[in-house]
Amino acid sequence: MSLTDRPATDLLRDLSARKISSVELVKAYAERIRRFDGQIKAFLHLDIDAALAKAREIDARRAAGQPMGKLGGLPVAIKDVLCTQGIRTTCASKILENFVPPYDATVVRKLKEADAVIIGKTNMDEFAMGGSTENSAYFKTTNPWDTSRVPGGSSGGAAACLAAGMAPLSIGTDTGGSIRQPAAFCGVTGLKPTYGRVSRYGLVAFASSLDQIGPLGHTAEDCALLLETIAGHDPRDSTSADLPVPQYTASLSQPLQGLKLGLVREHFGPGLDSEIEAAVREAVKDYQSLGATVKELSMPHSKYGIATYYIIAPSEASSNLARYDGVHYGYRTDEKAMLDELAAKQKQLESAQDAKKLAQLDTPLIRLYRKTRAEGFGPEVKRRIMLGTYTLSAGYYDAYYLKALKVRRLIRQDYDKAFEEVDFVVGPTTPSPAFKLGEKTDDPLAMYLEDLYTVTLNLAGLGGISVPCGFTKSGLPIGLQLQCRPFDEERLLQAAAMYQRATDWHTKRPSL
Ligand code: GLN
Repeated sequence: MSLTDRPATDLLRDLSARKISSVELVKAYAERIRRFDGQIKAFLHLDIDAALAKAREIDARRAAGQPMGKLGGLPVAIKDVLCTQGIRTTCASKILENFVPPYDATVVRKLKEADAVIIGKTNMDEFAMGGSTENSAYFKTTNPWDTSRVPGGSSGGAAACLAAGMAPLSIGTDTGGSIRQPAAFCGVTGLKPTYGRVSRYGLVAFASSLDQIGPLGHTAEDCALLLETIAGHDPRDSTSADLPVPQYTASLSQPLQGLKLGLVREHFGPGLDSEIEAAVREAVKDYQSLGATVKELSMPHSKYGIATYYIIAPSEASSNLARYDGVHYGYRTDEKAMLDELAAKQKQLESAQDAKKLAQLDTPLIRLYRKTRAEGFGPEVKRRIMLGTYTLSAGYYDAYYLKALKVRRLIRQDYDKAFEEVDFVVGPTTPSPAFKLGEKTDDPLAMYLEDLYTVTLNLAGLGGISVPCGFTKSGLPIGLQLQCRPFDEERLLQAAAMYQRATDWHTKRPSL
């Protein structure tokens, strides 16, 4: 296996033993990026010189026998939704095209303290709204397994850069599936932690009660390494849990005895691709041969997952995105053109009364907000803001938002019941493999249905992982999803590692 195909933990062992240097690694990935990112377009922002300088500094410290952070010189790619001090953070939106944060997100700070080398910021759906990375205002990322297809989303760049050997580790976010679904589409491993496991300070908010930051890597061990680096309580995020962080990598090789898996009937209904179903059932058999027992379960409220999510997430988004007004920061419409337009409109008006009315309704400030937002946000973001404003409006709040909150509770209760009987819920990550670029862009509902098996986990606030479990006949990766009890990531990772010790799906790489 070439250097850039290897799992991060493997590279870390060689870094620690000084068999390779961080500079060598950064150069190897930079070369892959140079050759392939023109086609894959995983990165929105790259600063290889800065990465090399950092790597040099880390190598020097290691050579001098100085203490080394946990990630000791490993390159990490970061989804462009996390604030990076001095590095442009756009959320793939035009409205933040010039935004350079004055501070680091807690996760970024922890990565730096652990001696990670930040290699670049990855492409995504605008404000993490989408499932294909086609909603980026800048360009579309392609799937390294088939560049006519999407890498999934919203963390599409994060998954694609791993599959293409352009970084060994990456950070994504998952509000309704955005780590697990692209991981499945790109044949990598991705973990969505329990809500509160990782601090959201410095994460640009989409839907605050659902958003979580999590790791993507080639293996469960890579994810364990990254999760133990970024997890933990943070006084700057009051929703982060004040619980100790297990050393996930230390316990990873422990086999789980008497493992009980739950197969949810509703996850095998209409809409599920037959090749995905076959691969998932095969993976379940693999677990059985490793000693697991399997129980069939029903989660009767899961069928309301999409409807509930697509009320709650846009509601929260409409409120979170109110801050982009062209006044505080970010994009601002051309003020002079805007004022000229307003003056011209005034002139056209016949009566003084009409002019007065217009002046009241259409003040320069309101016009500035409106034009800035009309020009700065893309169509999917606007759709969500409109949906969310509607579901929160006085007349519809009870019928939509409040109702959705109640269903959310029922979905959580389905999980609580399931976890009385089994350790993990197991099933497909996605209903279909990676689809063609453009295939679903005109049909938002079809795009939303991609989240069928992932959104319920976010609504319930639990943890889950997607691991590679096979390929379709046409060579597209398939993901197996395991979902766990709150804060049970340690055993979730053990269960995933146990599967990866017995299979080799996670070792496959696309030929570019
Ligand atoms: N695809 C889902 C959406 O568009 C999930 C996005 C996410 O997890 N950030 O909302």
